[in-house]
Amino acid sequence: MFTKEFLEFIDAQDEYISRVYGSADTEKQLLARTVKLSEEAGEVSDAVLAHINNQRKEKLDKCRDLGGELADVIIVCALIAKTAGIDISEALEEKTKKIQQRRYEHIESKD
Ligand SMILES: [Mg+2]
Repeated sequence: MFTKEFLEFIDAQDEYISRVYGSADTEKQLLARTVKLSEEAGEVSDAVLAHINNQRKEKLDKCRDLGGELADVIIVCALIAKTAGIDISEALEEKTKKIQQRRYEHIESKD
């Protein structure tokens, strides 16, 4: 479900991170990237608060755009998947099919 260009970007970013920070073992990489995901999720929260004008003024200058922060979360998720040896495109396709099926079943049960 992800484009070839996005997956190539993830491969290149993974190589770049290893070059800059050194290549840690898989367990350490997974832990580091999971911590990074929490950081990025927090940035999404900040951006949502700013988006709805519910962020403190002193924090507003640090707030980034919501779209960019959501993209960061997707990128880190793809990096975690790569580290864990998971085909994120396949996982996304399987998950969306399951959710779609659940939605159809729910709609049918209401009819
Ligand atoms: Mg971010």
